[in-house]
Amino acid sequence: MATKVLLTRQPRTLGRSLLLTLPILLWSALMFTPAFGHANRAQRMASILTGAFMVVLFFMMMRTWSTYRWRRWFFVALGLLFPVGFIHQVMVMRGSMGIPLEEMIAGRTPFCFMPIPLLILPAALFKTVVFPGSILPKGGMSGGGMAAMVTIWLGITLVIGKGWCSYACFFGGIEEGMAAVPAKAKVRKIDPRWRYGPWAVLLAMVLLSLALFEPAYCMWLCPFKAVSEYVAARNTVGRIQNGIFILLFAGLVIVLPLLTKKRTQCSFFCPFGAFQSLFNKTSVFDVKIDRARCTPCVLCQKSCPTLSLTDESIARGETLMSCMKCGACVDACPKEAAVWHIRGTEVAVKPERARLMFLYAAWGMAIMFGGGIIAEGLATILHVFV
Ligand code: SF4
Ligand code: SF4
Repeated sequence: MATKVLLTRQPRTLGRSLLLTLPILLWSALMFTPAFGHANRAQRMASILTGAFMVVLFFMMMRTWSTYRWRRWFFVALGLLFPVGFIHQVMVMRGSMGIPLEEMIAGRTPFCFMPIPLLILPAALFKTVVFPGSILPKGGMSGGGMAAMVTIWLGITLVIGKGWCSYACFFGGIEEGMAAVPAKAKVRKIDPRWRYGPWAVLLAMVLLSLALFEPAYCMWLCPFKAVSEYVAARNTVGRIQNGIFILLFAGLVIVLPLLTKKRTQCSFFCPFGAFQSLFNKTSVFDVKIDRARCTPCVLCQKSCPTLSLTDESIARGETLMSCMKCGACVDACPKEAAVWHIRGTEVAVKPERARLMFLYAAWGMAIMFGGGIIAEGLATILHVFV
């Protein structure tokens, strides 16, 4: 255990920060330039603004060495603008956020990544996809189909693992935004056993989906149905389902993050998050604690929005498998002991190089996937004015 450590993180020069941002600037131009030729003025403006937003945030990450606070701007924008674009789309297509039964039977239900873990067992055992959407692109609200979403998810997941939950999930930003509102948490003591919540929900939903032959989580428990689409409430069951969605959204996504300053839905409930934790083992990037530098003051533990650090894990030099690579602990550590790391290398050997490699991958994917969603939501708003 060290008592005196040499700190190395100083703001970078403007020139060096710009140089490090150049690959992201070029990638952003490549992703958004095609939209510049769009006939719709709001779409063009939204693409330019989104591209600039992503480049500026990356530049600030380079200039300041801080990851979490700049990433959070992107992630909150993603969380808030996804419902704007999506709800606008469904209202234009069918005039309601409720999916009529006929649409579901016709396989025109939009697919998101949440049901992926629920589809695996029925597909493996019965060769049946228990989701009422189309596998291949079908147009309309079925969007690109399940195959496209699964491919995007798999590509991002193999590289950044549970980083998906900090750089790609288009729902988590709402609660991260809520958690950022209060200066201090009103509820500080959280029973650590809540960490098992997502695993319990995952197990229950996998078994229920197998038994009922439907994506049980989407039908009964997804809080984000409240801000996307849901089964049209034509009877008592439908009304109960929608009541559950609204209550879970209000409790887990709004109230509890405001009280605890934690991502409570992600940490204590989300079955997809639990499933995604498994892929932290396949990613080459992780966050470690350099025990030679650690004092241990546990500031990293307090800053973690997902309870992914414990006294024991800090002593072992590790984060828990629920770590979503948000970077809050690295930013918070006064001793530079919480570090980005590439598997197979020595801990704390060139941690900034590990951060850069992770961020190029994560931010490149964020621009490609989340950037399009942000631009769509922004265009919907701009359309009102231009
Ligand atoms: S913030 Fe965490 S990693 Fe850094 S010195 Fe304190 S306990 Fe150790
Ligand atoms: S351990 Fe660190 S990087 Fe992982 S979720 Fe917690 S704060 Fe974020």
